Amino acid sequence: MKFDIDTDLTPHFKMGEVCVSQTKPGMVGQCREDMKRCDMNRAYLLAVMGLEPIRERFGLVLVTSWYRSKELNAAVGGSATTQHLYGEAADIVVPDAGVLAVYKYLDKVWPGELILYSKHLHIALPRWGVKPDHMIGTYS
Ligand SMILES: [Zn+2]
Repeated sequence: MKFDIDTDLTPHFKMGEVCVSQTKPGMVGQCREDMKRCDMNRAYLLAVMGLEPIRERFGLVLVTSWYRSKELNAAVGGSATTQHLYGEAADIVVPDAGVLAVYKYLDKVWPGELILYSKHLHIALPRWGVKPDHMIGTYS
């Protein structure tokens, strides 16, 4: 699947949303160029398995960070092993329901990593052979 900012991944998420950064908006252009060299499969799976069902159940979902190039990840202080580097993790805000309600629901059903922060929720695809963490984060 080729990266194109206007192409729909799912009914409510476009490929362009895979490269966003609330904290480093100036790096989005570089991140998009980088994304063109990556495949979109992991981001697509996260959208289909996670984000679209959350949207259907809890209303508007705003993505504050999804795919990160190595440069963007370093600039935002992300972990060197974060799944954001493969487009298989996203940080979301759910204005109508709030991230706590979404976390409580997903804690029972989501097979991948979940980290609840005070203002956003980090959600990632399951990794083969890795028991996922569901936890409360320590910074926002
Ligand atoms: Zn995250």
